Amino acid sequence: MTTLIGAGLAVDVQAGAGAHAHAPDAAYRAAGANTTPDHPAGRTEVVISVQPPTPAEAARLREGDITISFLQPNLERELVEVLRDRGVTSFSLDLLPRVTRAQAADALSSQALVAGYRAVVEAVHRLPKFLPMFTTAAGTVPPAKVLVLGAGVAGLQAIATARRLGAVVEAYDVRAAAKEEVRSLGAKFVELDLETQDGVYAQAQSETFLERQRELIAERVAASDVVITTAAVPGRTAPVLVTADMLKTMAPGSVVVDLAAESGGNVTASVAGEDTWVGDVLVHGARNMPSSMPAHASKLYARNVANLLLMMTSDGEVRPDLDDEVLGGCCLTHAGELRRELP
Ligand code: NAD
Repeated sequence: MTTLIGAGLAVDVQAGAGAHAHAPDAAYRAAGANTTPDHPAGRTEVVISVQPPTPAEAARLREGDITISFLQPNLERELVEVLRDRGVTSFSLDLLPRVTRAQAADALSSQALVAGYRAVVEAVHRLPKFLPMFTTAAGTVPPAKVLVLGAGVAGLQAIATARRLGAVVEAYDVRAAAKEEVRSLGAKFVELDLETQDGVYAQAQSETFLERQRELIAERVAASDVVITTAAVPGRTAPVLVTADMLKTMAPGSVVVDLAAESGGNVTASVAGEDTWVGDVLVHGARNMPSSMPAHASKLYARNVANLLLMMTSDGEVRPDLDDEVLGGCCLTHAGELRRELP
């Protein structure tokens, strides 16, 4: 807020927008913003939100207005059409190129960090065991074993958090680059006799590959007290890594947290936002994890969005240069055109 006001912008905040994150309207006013009772679309130039606007809200934007949020263009077809037809310049944070200059605006990463941390908290909360080892007069308690599948931003944060709590952690990812990152956090990388992938993003895998992966990882799943799955392929349904049969081989009381539950699920049994028992194993399907850590999730998101907005602001005016690699890369609609093909 102060960053944007310092850049010469006038800021309206929807009344109550920060309530869940313990940021009262008075705090926004003290920072120099106005609070408004309604959605401010219709009289502002830039509308920022976390969730995409509804098609009805988008229809209130004027030609040339700018909107920034997680637009999820693959899911929000009707919204994308409204934004295009209204001549709105829309930026989608899920399209931000993962280049060094964009890192300060990378809200996918900041929210994945929150989700990875929270996944461990959710697991620990449900696990009827300690995570760390204890040596006591009543005997020794061995450390819990945690397996993390998918070692991107969320997976690495889950590994670091489980390690801090004293668990013995192992992890697997299809990308070769993940191996060193996993090891640098003090976890063991699970070697599977499978082809690895190069690059920063995973490519979609064939069903034959996934079948083989499930066969090979089954033994590590069975040996774990906690499994956290974070595997994703951008723009695709999440790959199935753990089946109900695999869950039944885990010790009673074991816990699985599926961070991919909202995008199809890495675990066949998971339902987003719900706990499901499979035999004596509890599967938690994550839903909107960042909203369960609203104070820090909002703070990080606000900084990301402010940094993106500053990239398009000079002398108190917002004028995005769409030839810029970062801004052009995450711009979805502009001047009545859809700037990228949707699958
Ligand atoms: P993501 O959310 O798209 O996927 C999560 C992880 O799942 C990925 O590591 C992926 O390889 C893995 N995965 C996919 N299929 C799998 C399978 N079948 N089995 C096991 N794992 C599977 O990824 P993300 O967290 O958004 O980021 C991926 C990479 O991008 C990370 O290495 C991250 O460090 C990098 N990154 C780079 C920048 C940058 O600015 N250069 C910014 C953010 C992230």
